[in-house]
Amino acid sequence: MLRAHTSDHADVVIIGAGIAGLSAAHQLISAGVDVSVLEAAAHPGGRMATDDVDGFRLDRLGPLLSSACPELGSTPGLDGLVLRDFAPGVLVHSEGRQYLAGDVRSARGALRAVRSRPSAPHAPLGGAIEQARLGAWLARLAGAPESRIAARPDGAALDALPARGLPPRVVDGFLRPLLSALLADPGLTTSSRTADLALRDYARGRLCVPSGGSATLPGLLAAALPPGTVRTGVHVTAADITSVRTKEHGELGCRSLLLATGAGAAAELLPGLRTPAFHPVTVLHHTTAQAPPTGARLLLDADRSGPVAHTAVMSEVDPSRAPHGRVLITSTVLGPPPPDLDDAVRAHLAALYGTPTDDWELLAAHHDPEAVPAMPPPHDPRRPVRLLAGLYVCGDHRDTSTVQGALRSGTRAASAILADLGVRRPQADGTGLPTAA
Ligand SMILES: Cc1cc2nc3c(=O)[nH]c(=O)nc-3n(C[C@H](O)[C@H](O)[C@H](O)COP(=O)(O)OP(=O)(O)OC[C@H]3O[C@@H](n4cnc5c(N)ncnc54)[C@H](O)[C@@H]3O)c2cc1C
Repeated sequence: MLRAHTSDHADVVIIGAGIAGLSAAHQLISAGVDVSVLEAAAHPGGRMATDDVDGFRLDRLGPLLSSACPELGSTPGLDGLVLRDFAPGVLVHSEGRQYLAGDVRSARGALRAVRSRPSAPHAPLGGAIEQARLGAWLARLAGAPESRIAARPDGAALDALPARGLPPRVVDGFLRPLLSALLADPGLTTSSRTADLALRDYARGRLCVPSGGSATLPGLLAAALPPGTVRTGVHVTAADITSVRTKEHGELGCRSLLLATGAGAAAELLPGLRTPAFHPVTVLHHTTAQAPPTGARLLLDADRSGPVAHTAVMSEVDPSRAPHGRVLITSTVLGPPPPDLDDAVRAHLAALYGTPTDDWELLAAHHDPEAVPAMPPPHDPRRPVRLLAGLYVCGDHRDTSTVQGALRSGTRAASAILADLGVRRPQADGTGLPTAA
């Protein structure tokens, strides 16, 4: 029998109210299972956090999502999610100039984009023909089934790039900086299959961000849960299948336990779980009087001439992140940050945008040493979420280290729990509600 929820018992206790735990909670509750989500922090959302500073909405992370990611549309609770698209293609900065590349609306679009800008004698991205080849290559990748990419041999992304059939200038001037940004991995040690799938998502959709900041996404998930489901400020110190111990509220009994913390905290609670290496990420936000003229495009540094991997005038992409008439520039440093972070970033941004930055005001800088779990080859994007009946684990470290992977791992964990509890998922016609257990 499924039991009713009390303050000291729930059928399923979920530790962690990041997007993985919240999406699992949704799917369990909509199947009639009683769930309690325990979150150590004061707010749900985990790594998808946004701070309010003087009317600016400042993401602690700078997630680059793809509008092609099916989970953004299909995860229950996310119906109200508004995504703000970057302009098509990316601007690549190399040898002192900006180039538009990778507009995959069509190969002809890529060609036009290049013709509309003067080409340097030795344009690092190559000429119009190379751009057209890139457009056609991305269009082919967009149409490739996921199963075909998943069946490719796996190696480090950096080693696999030369075999992709594109001119070295396009690989170095476009693919490498774009993939580094998408994977938060400056050395491209990530599995080549995972990298190909990330590029496929890029080619199939538009780069985008949640309107109002990345916290909007978990905020929607949390708000759509029954009141009292998420208990914040509750830090779990020990856990087993039938109970969890908390720092603040004693013990809580359960029938099943879902560990939905990040990889490090999961391994602390459940010794034996593998802790991956991590890619550190630092995100900086500046404001200035006049927006640099890049519009709503992502600007990548192909030359690695400073600490910034990518940057954008975020108030052009998502005007709701800045007070009316104000400018917000969000920049990302991948890997360990330099000791003189503010000065080094400011100088690099001056070169990238081609404008003085001395009077830019730094609004915030946030460093996360465990931002993104590394995904070296061979990477299994469907690591088991069921450890044994009654004990489950989800989060980006069980899938791909992305928003998409975290949501998908939550769905997989919810399915495993429902199967073990003998509960069928509700169907659209209302059948399939709890049957047993
Ligand atoms: C700087 C940065 C940049 C990123 N860039 C991108 C990107 O461009 N694209 C992309 O798709 N993804 C990106 N990501 C990754 C993405 O944000 C994560 O994959 C995703 O948010 C992970 O969600 P999660 O639910 O698995 O884990 P988390 O968000 O880490 O949630 C885990 C939750 O568990 C809670 N918790 C931990 N221990 C306990 C405990 N003992 N008791 C109670 N609660 C506990 C934590 O407080 C947290 O709320 C980035 C992440 C960072 C930090």
